[in-house]
Amino acid sequence: MIPERLVFLDLETTGVNPLHDRIIEVGLCEVVGCEVVEEWSTLVNPRKTVSPYIESITGIASSMVADAPFFSDIAAELHAKLAGKVLVAHNARFDYGFLKSEFRRLDISFQEKTLCTVKLSRALYPEHSRHNLDTLIERHNLNVSNRHRALGDVRATWEFFKKARAEFPAEVLGKAIQKQLKQPSLPPGLSKDQIDALPHAPGVYLFFGEKDAVLYVGKSKDIRARVLSHFSGDHRIYKGMRLSQQVRHIDFMETAGELGALLLEARLVKELVPIHNRRLRRNRELFTLCLVADKQGTVTGVEIVAMDALGQEDGKSLYGMFRSRREAGKTLLGIIREQGLCARVLGLEKGSGACFGYQIKKCRGACVGEEPLALHQARLTMALAQLKMRSWPFKGAVGIREKSPAGDRTEIHVFDHWRHLGTATSEKNLWEIFECPSPLPFDLDSYKILNRYLDGMVKKADILTFF
Ligand SMILES: [Zn+2]
Repeated sequence: MIPERLVFLDLETTGVNPLHDRIIEVGLCEVVGCEVVEEWSTLVNPRKTVSPYIESITGIASSMVADAPFFSDIAAELHAKLAGKVLVAHNARFDYGFLKSEFRRLDISFQEKTLCTVKLSRALYPEHSRHNLDTLIERHNLNVSNRHRALGDVRATWEFFKKARAEFPAEVLGKAIQKQLKQPSLPPGLSKDQIDALPHAPGVYLFFGEKDAVLYVGKSKDIRARVLSHFSGDHRIYKGMRLSQQVRHIDFMETAGELGALLLEARLVKELVPIHNRRLRRNRELFTLCLVADKQGTVTGVEIVAMDALGQEDGKSLYGMFRSRREAGKTLLGIIREQGLCARVLGLEKGSGACFGYQIKKCRGACVGEEPLALHQARLTMALAQLKMRSWPFKGAVGIREKSPAGDRTEIHVFDHWRHLGTATSEKNLWEIFECPSPLPFDLDSYKILNRYLDGMVKKADILTFF
């Protein structure tokens, strides 16, 4: 179905960022059925200068908008023209974002359905790769004047729509339109404004239920898209449904990039223990296996140690990571049995002489001198090697710099021996992180996150060494 009332709209602006840039011209054209019922346009005083670059594209100079009305002067009239209608624009997200920002500055809530002619062109003419307005004008031989002025571009968009209407059966066009207009169904307890406030930016989002109970903490490179995917039905359906019913409020925190989002998510999950987060639960004490050696370097045993008890400067080789002392012990015993190692030589069995394993023919006899100790040690080291943890590859603390895709946000994540000491948003507050009084406990999540990051995504230039 093709909506009966459409408002074709275009804006000229001082730049591309709806937070800092402002509208300098609005043009619109209302269509009912196949008839244009109104054309309207106005220049807008942006309360800032129009750059020579923008002037060169649009032909709109600062002097032209100096006496134009402010957006606040036209807001009510414009809002009335748009209310309840489907807005059609070329790259609709751009125009919609600017309208939203301008209305938000005036505390006016703005929420209309949008139809993007770039997406429509892509859906109808998939054989073409370019869908910008100039390309469409040329491809469809559209009759256009005043290109890059609001009303000129509105008319071009409308011309394109008419062409598509003539070329495709109504069902095909209607289907392509409805696909865009179909909004993900939002949870009943959530207002659209809350969704609109979500940015297309990396970071962490939090779902709250009744009485501010924390339901879920998640991270994404695109907060808004990920949150919507929770409610669109394709995101692990069962969990999504339960969440949808319970969620009352959404909060978010932007980060510069993915590493920051991962670290923040891991921290918040531990602090808040959300009901629906299964992974990354609260940090319990972690244990590892550690070789004990005498002064000559001969291995005299294996110890199970709590990760927190290890000093950060400890250069010991560590093997494996376990959620409990028992789990560590079980794993170690398994290796001893499997490899025919000696529990007594490794200090796990009291007494002297033949060990219990030797008596049941499991130990190869290191305890009674049948196997040379050096060989026993070599076999032990080899058996443990598969569990060996990566040792800290730097001399001391390092910072990993992360820049946001838009370039407006930089974060420096400081690590020392796999512990995340903190994240600075400027080099100035970097030093505060080092004032941290107590050594942080070892955290398995930070270890895993950083390990994966160092293996893949980080550039050498983004690693700052401090010592
Ligand atoms: Zn033995």
